[in-house]
Amino acid sequence: MKKREMYECLVVGCGMAGTVIARELAERAGKKVLVLEMSDHIGGNAYDLLSESGILVHQFGPHIFHTDNKRVFDYLSRFTQWRNYSHEVVGNIHGKLIPIPFNLNSLHLAFESSKATRIEQKLIAIYGLASKVPILDLRRQPDTELADLADFIYNNIFLYYTQKQWGLAPDEIDALVTARVPVVISYDNRYFQDTYQGIPAQTYTSLFEHMLNHPNIELQLNSDARRLLRLESGKVFFDGSPFNGTVIYSGPTDELFDCRYGRLPYRTLDFVFETHNITSYQSTGTVNYPVDQEYTRITEFKHLTGQALDGRTTIVKEYPRAYTGADSETPYYPIQNPENTTLYERYRKLSDEFPQVHLLGRLAEYKYYNMDAIVKTALELADTLIK
Ligand code: UDP
Repeated sequence: MKKREMYECLVVGCGMAGTVIARELAERAGKKVLVLEMSDHIGGNAYDLLSESGILVHQFGPHIFHTDNKRVFDYLSRFTQWRNYSHEVVGNIHGKLIPIPFNLNSLHLAFESSKATRIEQKLIAIYGLASKVPILDLRRQPDTELADLADFIYNNIFLYYTQKQWGLAPDEIDALVTARVPVVISYDNRYFQDTYQGIPAQTYTSLFEHMLNHPNIELQLNSDARRLLRLESGKVFFDGSPFNGTVIYSGPTDELFDCRYGRLPYRTLDFVFETHNITSYQSTGTVNYPVDQEYTRITEFKHLTGQALDGRTTIVKEYPRAYTGADSETPYYPIQNPENTTLYERYRKLSDEFPQVHLLGRLAEYKYYNMDAIVKTALELADTLIK
């Protein structure tokens, strides 16, 4: 028997989705699992490593774990300890730094004192303390002072940043995207308010290593599923031979079908890393640039990782642009709108002809998932597959 015939499950992609489901199938269902990963590393976009300068960096942009879901937190906590870290972001608005999400502290920094106090009282009376209001909702407020506030936030926090990030204005993209960063009626400067938040105490990469470290899991890096996997007439072929087991696919769904209806659009990012011979570059983990610059934000990793190192620090600048589909590029953000969702649905329907194939993850589901949300979905898929 050829070795490949031993496998009962094939998992394509070794990011959060693929790794969690591989572990579940291997451990809970006792299946022999082969994980195929196109790149030369595990962990997908959460991959982190020590750079040549000895600084721990997130190779594909800042990843901060946060969740309200106890099952998800407990699950990942089997494979890592956590460093307590609450992410804070400020926006650089013409040189002035104000907390983002825009909150009551930001209000007092942006407006003169008596106006800020009046607006603060109105916000608390209308929405209540600790509530979160998407900017597109706040813009519908009839009160003139609140309308002023909404205009200020829209123009100074969302407009240009969103144009850079998506190539579109905030009201041209799915409202859920800007609602990720609502106006927060509180004095809490944390970017996330979730119960559990932090960074793996060692590295994300070691979290993935621990999840993949199971006798039933075999990992093949540098293995491109586009060349190894073929879906035809309701059947799956792996490396030229029929494969009857379960397939979990976490790559781009259009590529599973040779992009026959056209490419699903994504945004990609160019990351520019800089190491500076100073101990600290900026006051918070991330500084957003919502009114100028071509990059959207700068993240200084030492804030996130807690790495103590004098006289040296590394930052990353993020430059968004359209994804062209070139092999050298990575699709990071699905652009969810009615047209793209319809296109995605056509591909998803094709996948229905292959009941052994399950689409899972940000790329495969064409969904703007946070890390915790994809862990939750992966665990739930495991629940349904393992009966
Ligand atoms: N956003 C913005 N200005 C900001 C921060 C966020 O306009 O200072 C908008 C922008 O459209 C962005 C979205 O809110 O794409 C979601 O931001 P988030 O920080 O959640 O993005 P991610 O960390 O996933 O890139």
